[in-house]
Amino acid sequence: MIPYGRQDISEEDIQAVTDVLRSDFLTQGKLVPAFERAVASYCTAKLGVAVNSATSALHVACLALGVGKEDIVWTSPITFVASANCAIYCGATVDFVDIDSRTYNMSVEALQKKLITAKKAGKLPKVVIPVHLAGQSCDMESIFRLSKEYGFAIIEDASHCIGGKYKGVPIGSCRYSSIAVFSFHPVKIITTGEGGMATTNDPVLAKRMAHFRSHGIVRYADEMTHEPDGPWFYQQIDLGFNYRMTDIQAALGLSQLKRLDDFVAKRHEIAKRYNEILTEPWLTLPWQDPDTYSAFHLYIIRVQENNPIVNHLQLFTMLRSAGILVNLHYIPVYRHPFYQRMGFDVADFPEAESYYAEAISLPMFTTLTAEQQDIVAACVNQKTAVDKTDEELKGFQNIF
Ligand SMILES: *Cc1c(COP(=O)(O)O)cnc(C)c1O
Repeated sequence: MIPYGRQDISEEDIQAVTDVLRSDFLTQGKLVPAFERAVASYCTAKLGVAVNSATSALHVACLALGVGKEDIVWTSPITFVASANCAIYCGATVDFVDIDSRTYNMSVEALQKKLITAKKAGKLPKVVIPVHLAGQSCDMESIFRLSKEYGFAIIEDASHCIGGKYKGVPIGSCRYSSIAVFSFHPVKIITTGEGGMATTNDPVLAKRMAHFRSHGIVRYADEMTHEPDGPWFYQQIDLGFNYRMTDIQAALGLSQLKRLDDFVAKRHEIAKRYNEILTEPWLTLPWQDPDTYSAFHLYIIRVQENNPIVNHLQLFTMLRSAGILVNLHYIPVYRHPFYQRMGFDVADFPEAESYYAEAISLPMFTTLTAEQQDIVAACVNQKTAVDKTDEELKGFQNIF
């Protein structure tokens, strides 16, 4: 079996976690703030707020920006559901902006068109959440320019791309956004088991996100409505959650962060090799915008529709039946029944639909070997005989 993604854990990582287990604090110690400072500093952002997942980070980011029942939030349809769910958690309305045909990120052209229509209808979004798919940054300068013109805030869903760059600057710098969000799930670039972080240059937003992460509770007199009753005192001033990261997770994150640049360099090496050995003319390989340095969380190929050799479903099924655990990132969010009930029409998103009909994520992780890549390439290029009938292949579809 070759998975599509997996973590890369060193002895040093294990030692870092073990050290916490022998220390006084498993959570709410010094390592979470240290990890926040380290990530913020890596990204050249002022502040980091660590939480227990990117999903939580997206939620507290929306709350900090004041997203509520009357508000509209836009994101890309080609993303994990969490990029849209965060707005629904706040009671807001979600809509989607179609993707760019080359990067598969939110299309700036489609965004601009939708903004013009929305302005006329008085339905402009409060927040737009661009998603840096596969680790490649969106066209943030253009989205930022539109945010100034139409008055929306930007949360970057940077779950795929810690270690990536846009115009030479680390993703997460928030140069073109209010907040950026990272995921540290094991399939992502670095891991804390589960975990996430929001970076920002705005101390007010950071403070609000920190409140929402921990029940909406404040502990300093200057944040309270009156003088503390005594040394035991704290106040709940908002309705928050327990979204805290533990020191055990932060220790792993700090240790992983040391190897982040090596991880991303290795992912580029793997991508370069795939580019060389995937040779069939009916394949579309990942296009790289020269303004970006991807973190290469995913290596996405497209099986061009109506090619005479193999169709999308056939190739996907063949790969899985060969023990290559490919995936499809992602089913367009509006296609999920929960979102279908809101009345979305697939015809409104032709590029996302075309992508969904063609995309496959090949295995991509730092410990993937050249031999494993060759096995994947032989299968994709149709050089491996698969003597199974369609009927036999069907059985494999739901195994993984
Ligand atoms: C993984 C992912 C998330 C959610 O991350 P968690 O840390 O698992 O909550 C959100 N958005 C995108 C684009 C992701 O890939």
